[in-house]
Formats: sequence, structure tokens, C-alpha cells
Amino acid sequence: MSHPFSEFGEVVSCDTPLASLTWLRLGGPAQFLARPANVDQLSNLIRTAQSHNIPWKILAGGFNILVRDKGVNGLVIQMASPAFSDLEIRGQTVLSGAAVPLTALISQTARAGLSGLEQLTGVPGTIGGAVRSAVATRSTNLDPMIRRLTLLDADTDIIKLDRDDLAPGQSWSELEDHVILDLELDLTVDDPESVVRRMRNVWILKKEHQPYGHQPAACIFRDPRPDQSAESLIDQAGLKGSRVGGAEVSVRNANYIVADPNCSPSDVLRLIELVRGEVDRRFRIELELRLEVW
Ligand SMILES: Cc1cc2nc3c(=O)[nH]c(=O)nc-3n(C[C@H](O)[C@H](O)[C@H](O)COP(=O)(O)OP(=O)(O)OC[C@H]3O[C@@H](n4cnc5c(N)ncnc54)[C@H](O)[C@@H]3O)c2cc1C
Repeated sequence: MSHPFSEFGEVVSCDTPLASLTWLRLGGPAQFLARPANVDQLSNLIRTAQSHNIPWKILAGGFNILVRDKGVNGLVIQMASPAFSDLEIRGQTVLSGAAVPLTALISQTARAGLSGLEQLTGVPGTIGGAVRSAVATRSTNLDPMIRRLTLLDADTDIIKLDRDDLAPGQSWSELEDHVILDLELDLTVDDPESVVRRMRNVWILKKEHQPYGHQPAACIFRDPRPDQSAESLIDQAGLKGSRVGGAEVSVRNANYIVADPNCSPSDVLRLIELVRGEVDRRFRIELELRLEVW
């Protein structure tokens, strides 16, 4: 069947299930799913989508995405090619492709005696997804470590943005309509054994405070303030273990929803609204969604 992306052959498939490409394992298909092999193909895909007024989105590890039952209208571009996964350490500078898993980046930089990223140990996903979704833990966030991003801008031109190009207070995550191709991080030289030890300690704590590794799950809300976590508000509202259909507020960390095998995307959405409503009623705080709903 001919469609606007026919010229890309097997790079683009139609009506392709997305559930297995997200960690919640839920939701319907993508109208078009593309797996570009390199930057040229990526920019050609975006140009083709734009010329046909077809909306497009980037999918990386799928750890921060809930796909609705009806699926995604338009083009989903999966950044999974080795062309986006180069990793090089030069002194205290790290050059990383957007599709490098955060776990690989953290362990390799720790072993090289570079400190900074170890505080993000246990956060799943790619570095590109982490930048775009403003990954943070109580003790750190990525922004100050990023020196430069290479991006495809809205006109599919390749541009480089330095830290100084951001407006004061602007986060790298605010660069919408851009695809992150690669980035440079500035880390701090430290003793490799100390960094690896800290990495292991962070992992022990993180593992204890999130759903079990085999459970499809998502981290739902942003913390309202650095000193006020979404987890503690939801916990204090007595919502741990609350359920809607096959979706449950994790008993290990109230800011996660765990999806049972019989769960549907609407179960998760209804549970999110229940939690948000109850926290608002009890504390007059409107929780902001971290999870993206597609
Ligand atoms: C068990 C668990 C624990 C978690 N712990 C934390 C935590 O401690 N702290 C925290 O902040 N988050 C946490 N998260 C959320 C999640 O890990 C992060 O948001 C992660 O960065 C998502 O990365 P990803 O590669 O899966 O991106 P995806 O979920 O695939 O995409 C996320 C967003 O980034 C965009 N994107 C991805 N790659 C690119 C690119 N190259 N260019 C432009 N846009 C891009 C996507 O379009 C989407 O908008 C957790 C999630 C789970 C399931």
C-alpha cells in the first residue's frame, strides 16, 4: 500500500504496535513507525512528514510515555540506531549520542573516574530522553552538566547550542520541536573507586524506592518543590496501593503507577486523576504530570 513514507521502504512500517516499545507496555499502534539508520534519513523523514502536515514524535526508551488505546496518529520515530549511540570520553568531557542508555553512560564515566552522573543511577532510559524529560533526582539534575547539544531544529538544520546560548534560567528540556542528536557533558575528575562506590549506594537506595524491575511502571508526577516530593504527598493522602482496574499506586513508592497484565491506558489515566484530585483536595497542591500521554 502506498503512503507518504513509501520511498523509505522497510524503515517505515504502518499501524505498528507501540506497547512493547514503552515500559508500561500499554496502548495502541503508531500510524507510522520509523527506525532511521542515520541523521540523513531522520531529517528526510521529518521533512516528508512536515510536507504532508503529518505530526511526528520521537520515541527513545519509552520509560516516560503512556500510549492511549487509540494509538498515535502520525509518525513515531524511534531513535534506536547505532548511529545515535556513540560514546567517547575525552578527559573530563563526555561525547554521547542521544540514544546511549543512561546506565551505560553512568557506569562508563564512573569507571573512568568522572563524577556527576552517578547520582542518576537507576533512572532508566536514554540520555536524549533524559535531557528532554528534565530527569532529576532529589540530589541532582542533568542541566548543569551539559555543555553543548547538537540538534536538528524545526527546519531540519543541524545546529549546535552551547550553555551560553540558553536564556538565564532556561532548561535544555525546553527546546521543543528539536531532535537531540548528541551532546557534550562536563564532568568532574574524581577517584574511580569513590565514584563507583557512590553509584552502588545510589542504586541500592533507588532500587528499594521504586517498583520491582519486572513490573511495568511509570513515574507519574514532578516534585512540586525540591523540599516537597510528590511521593510524600501521595503517601500522606493515604493513596499507596489505590487501584483503578489493572492500575495500582505502587506500594514501594507512591509516585509510581504499576500496570497489571489486564491494565488499560484508561485505567492509568483514571488513577492519575484520582490521585491528583485527592492531593489537591487534601493539600491544595496541583501535581504536574511528569509522564507524557500520547
Ligand atoms: C522505574 C522508573 C524509574 C524512573 N526514575 C526516574 C527518576 O528518578 N527521575 C526522573 O526524572 N525520571 C525517572 N523516570 C522517568 C524516565 O526514566 C525518564 O523520563 C527517562 O529520561 C526517559 O527516557 P527515555 O529514553 O525512555 O525517553 P522516552 O520516554 O522515550 O521519551 C521521553 C521524552 O523525550 C523525548 N525524546 C527522547 N529522545 C529524544 C531525542 N533524541 N530528541 C528529542 N526528544 C527526545 C520524547 O519525544 C519524549 O518527549 C523513571 C521511570 C521509570 C519507569
